[in-house]
Amino acid sequence: MKNTHDYRLICGMEIHAELKTKSKMFCGCKNDPFHAPAPNTYTCPVCLGMPGGTPVANKTAVDWTIKLGLALGCKINLFSKFDRKNYFYPDLPKGYQISQYDIPFCVDGVVQTSEGPVRIRRIHLEEDTGKLLHTTVAGEKVTLIDFNRSGVPLIEIVTEPDIRTPSQAKEYGRKLRQIIRYLDIADADMEQGGMRLEANISLAPAKADELPKYKVEVKNINSFRFVEQAITYEMKRHAEILSGGGTPEQETRGWNPNTGKTFSQRAKEEAEDYRYFPDPDLPPIRLKKQALQRLKAELPELPDMIVSRWHTTYQVEPRFGELLNTTREQASWIDEIFLAAAKEGISANSLASAIVNRKIKTQVGDKPKDVLATYYAAFATEKIDASELDRAIEKVFAANPDAVAKYKAGDQKVIGFFIGQVIREIGRKADANEVRQALIAALK
Ligand code: ZN
Ligand code: MN
Repeated sequence: MKNTHDYRLICGMEIHAELKTKSKMFCGCKNDPFHAPAPNTYTCPVCLGMPGGTPVANKTAVDWTIKLGLALGCKINLFSKFDRKNYFYPDLPKGYQISQYDIPFCVDGVVQTSEGPVRIRRIHLEEDTGKLLHTTVAGEKVTLIDFNRSGVPLIEIVTEPDIRTPSQAKEYGRKLRQIIRYLDIADADMEQGGMRLEANISLAPAKADELPKYKVEVKNINSFRFVEQAITYEMKRHAEILSGGGTPEQETRGWNPNTGKTFSQRAKEEAEDYRYFPDPDLPPIRLKKQALQRLKAELPELPDMIVSRWHTTYQVEPRFGELLNTTREQASWIDEIFLAAAKEGISANSLASAIVNRKIKTQVGDKPKDVLATYYAAFATEKIDASELDRAIEKVFAANPDAVAKYKAGDQKVIGFFIGQVIREIGRKADANEVRQALIAALK
């Protein structure tokens, strides 16, 4: 028995994202680690961890963390604070990371996925570390440190262990990134490391209430596809160990996209002791209810809300709506198109289906009237009066003498251009074939 079907996945995720505030979390240094002209240029005593450097919390970063919490339906702690998480590593010059321990800004939210809700346990705000570069200088193996990233505001979003399939993990990650981008608080670029994924994975027997006695963390995954693959890989690995009577080792693993396998990084020591305590340099943060109201009022319409509005207003099926609201820019473009379609009595759902299924070629920014013309051309049905058709053809020919000459010189492909133009001129659901016939006749 080494079938993953004998077990159910118990998986939670921890996702880090760098906020795109102008300055860093606790100092005035520029927050732009990916475009810095050289290593260690955006630094100061505070983010270099020099003695005497005094941190001051970035208010925008706090506001944005709370905005994300509000967008995910979290409860917001009106009293909150920053804590020191102590550990030694060369990329952390102070010997501790400023983070939040027992009172994070946001708790108890939810992200809906097609496979069920994923509850959000907490969202807290912390600072990013410096970046290590293992390389060779003058024939010697060395590790270089770049502190441009040190002190960049970092949000950490932690879920409850609600994820039950690898594909749900992927969907959750994508939806979270979509919401973060709608809020315009982070670029969440995965390749550059602006957003980093971690999955906590264990398997429980499928038919028992028993909870797993172990947990494997797969860290620093930089794509949603890889997170899906890493969980799938781990499920098989755990199922084999469990069915042989063993228990997978409690450890931290990495993901190698080249081999498609996870690998052991370090065994988990007994609950790491970070000796958390409140940071004495930073006063606790007290939020006013009015401030919360203001942040709430600033929230944009969110992806799920758009899908349901399109459903109510235009009867667009959610499965199409979800593919047309990838970005705020795309959603507002689609809004214009649906509005134009409604005015002309075209079914927004058919149009949505045509766009999603690439039955018509469009891209974000195309003018609504052009999109409708393309749609008419592809799905024409309405009978157009012959004289109206002739008038439209004449008009199009008059406006495009070059194209007429081209056709007469033997370029048959121009006919497609004429069909689009004529249908647009008519402005209704003209039959593309009828238009073609009329055009061919007119061009003789
Ligand atoms: Zn600094
Ligand atoms: Mn963290």
